[in-house]
Amino acid sequence: MSLSKVATSISSSPTLALNEEARRLREKGEPVIHLGIGEPKNKTPITAILNSAAKLSSGDVKYVPTDGTPSLKKAILRYTEENYDRIAYPQNIIVSDGAKQSLFNILFTLCNPQDEVILLAPYWVSYPEMVKMIGAVPVIITPEDGSFIPRFDEIERAVGAYTKAIIVNSPNNPSGMVYPETLISKIVDLCESKGIYMICDDIYHKLIFDGNVAVPACKYTQKDVEGSKIIIINGVAKLYGMTGFRVGWIVAPRKLVEIMTNVQSQTTTCVSPVMQAAAEGALNGMQSIVESLRLSIQNNRDVLMQEIHSFTDVRCVKPGGTFYALPDFTAYCRNSIAKNSVELSNFLLKKALVVTVPGMEFGIENHLRLSYAGTVKDITEGIDRLKWALDPNAPSEIYFGDRKMVRDWL
Ligand code: PMP
Repeated sequence: MSLSKVATSISSSPTLALNEEARRLREKGEPVIHLGIGEPKNKTPITAILNSAAKLSSGDVKYVPTDGTPSLKKAILRYTEENYDRIAYPQNIIVSDGAKQSLFNILFTLCNPQDEVILLAPYWVSYPEMVKMIGAVPVIITPEDGSFIPRFDEIERAVGAYTKAIIVNSPNNPSGMVYPETLISKIVDLCESKGIYMICDDIYHKLIFDGNVAVPACKYTQKDVEGSKIIIINGVAKLYGMTGFRVGWIVAPRKLVEIMTNVQSQTTTCVSPVMQAAAEGALNGMQSIVESLRLSIQNNRDVLMQEIHSFTDVRCVKPGGTFYALPDFTAYCRNSIAKNSVELSNFLLKKALVVTVPGMEFGIENHLRLSYAGTVKDITEGIDRLKWALDPNAPSEIYFGDRKMVRDWL
């Protein structure tokens, strides 16, 4: 069978595959703890439910404009003005099926085959695959000092004649790092002086801890939305914990939005108006929801850090945002149990029934991404189980709840 070389070269999303495996194990009655998942446990904001329910019960659920309903765009424009201090117009906005599709649309719109897109490791798993999907080339910058903060001079050196864009995701999935303002401002200058796009994946920009705020890249440009190289991606998935609604958006110069709209019109036509009504409800509703979500996640981060500190030989840089941490498990990736993070993650799922995501998927080997978006109980018991599975000094028989676990591998 002869199939597309590009399509067959794309790996499946490892995080989605892990979700599937966890679901399968749970169905078999296994008490799996999911520290892999990237979604908070909160309920959908009531204003999102009511607005989408009203749309649904109107019975008038038809095609809507490809680039988004005017009323959702209005809410996004207000969000952009309030949070980015940026005046944009409806022609600068396109709404897509999640920030994932927004990202694909923009990469597809910007790049020719062979063009290069700079990615900063650790990076979100989908970036390199999407870049490859459109025939472009991911150029990866990896900080060697374990800080998860890329060095500006390395980014600068990576820019060449084929560079089309740099993707910046701060706060960062998977490390939880918030890039320093000086780095952001230097990347803005670099992009503007070289005429390359800075794609800001701001999906976690409100999930930031310890009284800090995410400084938007556009603070460092004199140019307006139309003249700037900065493209903002955002969405409701992480902002309101509305992952299943699949609504994301882009703020960009209108020429780019026009082309992305053509692309989207030939692929998905439009985002469901019911889901757009939900996003609009959330954006126009009480924003205290965002703050209470942020506070509970910050508390979870603190619990995770405390648990991790008691784990011998595991180092973890304290996350400044998101709901992920990326501890260094090098000490446990070089023995009979595992030779790398993929083997370690598989081992921990099989033996401790805890889902983690291997760092290899994010371009940083020997680390595991742990999510603290779940409950405090999941975090504490999850880490306890990892310690029990890996620490030869832990008792070989143990109860987690009413489940007895027996260790026969150390
Ligand atoms: N960017 C990053 C960094 C993410 O972590 C995610 C979701 N995990 C997305 C984009 C995609 O968001 P959405 O669910 O809106 O497609």
